[in-house]
This record gives sequence, structure tokens and C-alpha cells, in this order.
Amino acid sequence: MKAARFHAPGKIRIEDIDIPQISSEEILVKVKVALTCGTDVKMYKRGHPKVVPPITLGHEFSGTVEETGQKVANKFRVGDRVAVANSAPCNDCFFCKTGKPNLCEHLLETLIGFSVDGAYAEYIRVPAPIVRQNTYVLPENISFEEAALLEPLACAINGIDAANIGLGDTVLIVGSGPIGLIHLQLAKLKGAAKVIVTDLQPERLKIACKLGADVVIDASKEDQLSRVKEITGGLGADKVIEAVGLPQTWELAFQMTRKAGTTLFFGGCPSGAKISLDTERIHYEDLTVKGIFHHTPVSVLKAFKLISSGRFNGEPLISEEMSLSELENALIKMSKGECVKIAIKP
Ligand SMILES: [Zn+2]
Ligand SMILES: [Zn+2]
Repeated sequence: MKAARFHAPGKIRIEDIDIPQISSEEILVKVKVALTCGTDVKMYKRGHPKVVPPITLGHEFSGTVEETGQKVANKFRVGDRVAVANSAPCNDCFFCKTGKPNLCEHLLETLIGFSVDGAYAEYIRVPAPIVRQNTYVLPENISFEEAALLEPLACAINGIDAANIGLGDTVLIVGSGPIGLIHLQLAKLKGAAKVIVTDLQPERLKIACKLGADVVIDASKEDQLSRVKEITGGLGADKVIEAVGLPQTWELAFQMTRKAGTTLFFGGCPSGAKISLDTERIHYEDLTVKGIFHHTPVSVLKAFKLISSGRFNGEPLISEEMSLSELENALIKMSKGECVKIAIKP
């Protein structure tokens, strides 16, 4: 089968490799759509100390079941259209047992596109814990493109739940990349009265408007902090979600949060990055600052239900389609912020 193999930073080659073998508790999926993601871009540019190349990247995908292991044949049939998340917890470690399966100590062992070959290929082997916990058969009304958003949506649901958005809140989303645009929709579903979105790319802000942003701020032209203060009567936003992943936007997100408000740091910064926060504000202003990582089987289930309900609009998040051989171009385009997500069709 054809697979896009990552060999070293800046080096991806399309190769012919064997179709993976599955065990009795696994399934083999024929990939229909694999979406590009910021994580793939980071991996392509910098690699990762724990990733051993060559490996196939790609972890946001959907497809049809090509083969089922004997022990899971009662749950999945050949031909089933499925959405699959990129990991599943062990349910046995300290963090799983204490209700934080997103921090499972064995997460990396079955992480697709990281330690297990990913979805930029014609076929993918889905490890047993993921088959058991985080694989869903799609209803007919859901496209493969929408289904492939299961993983980022599950992460964003985990995030939005931590932001504790209430009815009538003013929510500020810093960054309107795919994750910011997903948070925008979720904030509205949570009952926010006003959602403000900021970004440096006017094209992305146009999509934010299309998806219902009440105010968009072009940070390349306007000062975000003073605009947000102006819109919120000098207070700052009730809940602020950072969806960029840079130390300076983390600090800015904090500055734009009102007294007794919540800053949610969703975007992951380059490793080793440090920020500085005003402790006086945290103390005297009753602030909540919260980090969040990854997804849980509960948030994956919620994401699946939301996609199935049609109440989540995934279509504007996918800018264009490309073939597997164009993957490198797709990742370069992504890194320039010229698109939201690209659907790779093997
Ligand atoms: Zn992703
Ligand atoms: Zn665990």
C-alpha cells in the first residue's frame, strides 16, 4: 500500500509498504479522509524526541472497516464506516483511576501518528484500546470529512468543559485556526451571549464570521487588548480561550480576562517556553488560570454525538482536498496559515 513516511524533519517520502497485520482485538481501516493538523506540521518541521522514524503521520481520520479481528467481529463489520480517535487510555494507571484518562501514563504507547503508524496511508491498523473505547460506526448522514474531525472536536470539548462557560458569558477566543473555530462553535452551544475571535489572518476571521462570531478582531491591524476592553466595558472577557500556542498570546489571553474570570490555555507552546503572569491579579482578582490537554473517552463520545446530531458545522474547517502525494505541500501550506485544514484522500 502507499503511505507517506516521515523520515526526518522536512523529509516525507511516499513509499510502498506492507498492509499492516492486525491482532484479534484490532481492526484494519481503509482511510477515506485524513485531515492535516498543527501537530503534523510541528512534527514535519521539528520531529519529536520520542518519535522514532520512519513513521506514518496523520491522526485525524475516518474510513471503512477492511478487516476485523476475531474478538471484535461482533462489534464491527467489514464495510462499516467509522470515525476513530488517535488514542485511548489504559484504565489502569494512577491518572486513569483518578478520573484523568487524558493524562494516562500509557497514552503514547498507542498514539496514532506518534508511536503507531498513522492515517496518511491507504490503510491503518487501529490498536485494541482504541477499537474498544474510541471507535464509532457513523450514521449515514455524516460525511467522512466531518467524521475525521472527531479527535480535534473531542480535545476542544475537553477544553470547553474546563472553561466552565455559562449562559450569557462573553467568550474571547484568541486564534481562529481549526481549534479556535471549533471552540467558537462550542462556546455558542454552551450559551455564550457574545463570542469574540481574534487572529492575524483575515481569511480565517471570515470563516469565524461565517460560523457565528459576534465580533472579530484583526490583530495585525488592531490592538487586541484595548479592543477587548472597549467591547466589554473595560472589564475584559468572562472566559478567554487561548488557541494559538505562543507564550506572548498566553500572556495576552490572561490580560484580556476579567476579574473572577477564567483563562484557558489550550494551545500548546514550544517545549521549554515560559510565561510571566501578574500574581497580584490572580490573587486579588480571583482569577482562574487553567491548562488542558488531549481528550477522554467521554469527550470522544460527546464529539461523536455532536457530529452525528448535525449541530456542529465541520465543513468550513476543511479548506480543500489533496492527494496523498501532495501531503508535503499540504503541510507547508498549513504552516503558513494559508488554510484551515486540508483533507488528504489516499
Ligand atoms: Zn490533531
Ligand atoms: Zn492509564
